[in-house]
Amino acid sequence: MQYFPLFVDTTSLNVLVVGAGEVAARKTELLLRTHARITLVAPHACSTINRLVATHDTLTWIEREYQPGDLDDQQLVFVATNDRELNRDISSQAKARNLLVNVVDAPQQCGFITPSIIDRSPILIAMSSGGVAPVLLRYLRQKLEADIPRSIARLGQFAEKFREKVKQRFDNLTQRRYFWEDFFDGDIAEQVLKGNEEIATQQMTQYLSETSPMVAGQVYLVGAGPGDPELLTFRALRLMQKADVVVYDRLVSQDILDMVRRDAEKIYVGKAASNHTLPQQDINQLLVDEAKAGKRVVRLKGGDPFIFGRGGEEIETLLEHKIGFEVVPGITAASGAASYAGIPLTHRDHAQSVVFATGHLKDDSINLDWPALVQKGQTLVFYMGLTGLPIICRELVANGMPPSMPIALVEQATTPEQQVVTGTLENIQQRAAHIKPPALIIVGSVVMLREKLNWFQTGSAAIEHAAD
Ligand code: SAH
Repeated sequence: MQYFPLFVDTTSLNVLVVGAGEVAARKTELLLRTHARITLVAPHACSTINRLVATHDTLTWIEREYQPGDLDDQQLVFVATNDRELNRDISSQAKARNLLVNVVDAPQQCGFITPSIIDRSPILIAMSSGGVAPVLLRYLRQKLEADIPRSIARLGQFAEKFREKVKQRFDNLTQRRYFWEDFFDGDIAEQVLKGNEEIATQQMTQYLSETSPMVAGQVYLVGAGPGDPELLTFRALRLMQKADVVVYDRLVSQDILDMVRRDAEKIYVGKAASNHTLPQQDINQLLVDEAKAGKRVVRLKGGDPFIFGRGGEEIETLLEHKIGFEVVPGITAASGAASYAGIPLTHRDHAQSVVFATGHLKDDSINLDWPALVQKGQTLVFYMGLTGLPIICRELVANGMPPSMPIALVEQATTPEQQVVTGTLENIQQRAAHIKPPALIIVGSVVMLREKLNWFQTGSAAIEHAAD
């Protein structure tokens, strides 16, 4: 993060603006929405500035060229003259005095940059691309503008009005947060947004006198998908942003963890094939303990919690302890890997069924019904199968699959590090020697479609194909 976001209290802030053209006028207009005292220095002013000076007491125009002494007693400086050299000089002088300075359209000379904002005061959304992607930023801003009702400000003011009463009602911080989250999701908030403030006030007063202050903890088993954060469900994201505690394992990517509520406690219970950081029983117990402490617990799992995710075992323990839970499905690795590698798991001409199997080794063997797996028109997907790859290839051939059957290995599917290697049951071991976990194995003639489909795909799949 090159730029640190912060909101500056303008109550006793002195701001200098040098320049009085249209660009300076736009900055000044924005500054005039705050409480800051603004001094503007320029020999001439555009009509907008003239109008602003006439109508605002907090704005003073000094009608002359800039002088270094103008920096005295100032805390923030905006430079917007059309003389580049002068702009650079003022920037250097301001920096020498440790003042925060912004030169319009010259990021190298800036000590700070101003964000793009959506103003629904008291709600203020500020965002920045650090000057790297202004068009993307504008696009995002438009989307947010459309999503955030104009009347959201009214909701902020309504909440402010009830803050003290809610504080008296719930003296515990966590319970207060739950209350407000429910409130913002609920019917009363809807009334405020619609402008029915009187009804909302009545309902709120009633609600506060009724609510039981006891709030029980709850566990959410949430599927985080195979890696790409864009593949999270809305529900997963919402719960991640409401969690008090997040219990996650190795398959959950950093990009996804970054989307968890910042104040949430994050507990790693990761599992690598042979290196169980925390035994499953202890994980189950941890979920119970945290929920009993009244917390909202999100158990974040790679892919889908109910596909090789041991979700079932965790739920059993929760049931034993009568703890409320909910399961949120996620995109399983097979779906993610298939889509991102360009391999449809079923296809009218190739596969009418697909089997998800575990290739996990137990005592150096894989306990699977091999004859049932070797069927015509069936795609096989092996999870946790990398170590067992030689056994998988050997058993499939021993049970009647042709050695020329196509097979694909997809490492870190859906992430920027995704790697795909294709071959046959005969040669895949040599070709895939460099592949590391987590990796998924796909066996079947559908693997051949990757070649064909890539001709029609743009983006990463096509580029990656060209590099194969
Ligand atoms: N619940 C998870 C699977 C957990 S088992 C799901 O539904 O996806 C762990 C195995 O999943 C790994 O050994 C690997 O085979 C597979 N896997 C998970 N994420 C993967 C990814 N991004 N790329 C490739 N394989 C992945």
